[in-house]
Amino acid sequence: MFLTHQAQTTHFPLMMEMERADGNYLYDKNGKAYLDLISGISVSHLGHGNEKVKEAIKAQVDKHMHLMVYGEFIQNPQVQLCSKLASFLPPKLNCTYLVNSGAEATDGALKLAKRITKRSKMVACKLAYHGSTHAALSLNSEEYYKQAFRPLLPGVEFIGFNVLADLDVITSQTACVITEVIQGEAGYIPATLEFLQSLRKKCDETGTLLIFDEIQSGMGKTGHLFAFEKYGIVPDILLLGKALGAGMPIGAFISSSEHMNLLADAPILGHITTFGGHPVVAAAALAGIEELFRLNLLENVQKKEQLFRKLLIHPAIKKISGTGLMLAVELDNFENNLKVIQACMQNGLLTDWFLFANNKIRIAPPLTITFEEIEFASNVIVEQLKAVYA
Ligand code: PLP
Repeated sequence: MFLTHQAQTTHFPLMMEMERADGNYLYDKNGKAYLDLISGISVSHLGHGNEKVKEAIKAQVDKHMHLMVYGEFIQNPQVQLCSKLASFLPPKLNCTYLVNSGAEATDGALKLAKRITKRSKMVACKLAYHGSTHAALSLNSEEYYKQAFRPLLPGVEFIGFNVLADLDVITSQTACVITEVIQGEAGYIPATLEFLQSLRKKCDETGTLLIFDEIQSGMGKTGHLFAFEKYGIVPDILLLGKALGAGMPIGAFISSSEHMNLLADAPILGHITTFGGHPVVAAAALAGIEELFRLNLLENVQKKEQLFRKLLIHPAIKKISGTGLMLAVELDNFENNLKVIQACMQNGLLTDWFLFANNKIRIAPPLTITFEEIEFASNVIVEQLKAVYA
């Protein structure tokens, strides 16, 4: 039924039937436990089934679910969430538009950039991933993924991530530059400080808007609530998603209220959504942010990174890239990586490779992972490396 009636995205899905999830573990239908090193691809940063998030969801369901399309009624969970985000962000990022997914956040941000600048050219980084809808796909540098779906958005140019020499592509014709702060699907590659500083400078010189996509890197995974904080470079538009919903579907694009007000004007209803900011999702997101701080989860991210780096030692490991609990273990090729990943799963450790880096093992566990669990996970990986590279 899964293969016939549920649309597939690959010819080789994982085909594991998970029945429940609790804390840092998923359990299949035979009751086998898997320690989670991927968090549903950077979503479950509080672990699975956080009690406070579940309570908030239940309480909101009892009050009301959907009432009206986005932006008409004053709905308390939405207002609280947007205000909470503003309290953590610089003044020029004080206004949030809530949508349903990361790709929608990307799309909304591109529209906003066009509306503000009255320009249409866009610049994205090679090997970035911003989503799979038409607009977000237009920002994908890899022709293989785009070829069957053209025409896509015109006027998109690509620069190398961390390549300063490419910045001349950005001119006074460019509406926006979009980049991840830690490239995700390229295999967890952090931006250099110099790159973000130069990008900011070039955008300021040309009147171009700088968009940071923190859909994957946001919500504490680098040890900062948002990865850009560590760099001290503030974007004009910030994208969030994934972990923001604490397990529920959400996306957000964030800018100044001055910028955002333009979406209500010429044309009116410049961006609309039925379900964006769904009250139950917004209540979960709000509780999720509160939990992140109540549980002090940012505090130990760096120590947990250090423990992974200390224990993941094997000659087959070429490099461990990334930062915080966004780490990528680089091996020689996909075939060996696949063997290691499959053996890890047999041994109760759930991991994965990356869209654009199939020779890297993904280490993106919930931030609640314990030091003992990191020892277990590292040990399983090293043992499988020994077996595969024997
Ligand atoms: N941006 C980044 C950095 C992502 O990693 C993703 C998803 O992996 C997206 C955007 C798209 O988010 P969604 O799958 O919710 O549309």
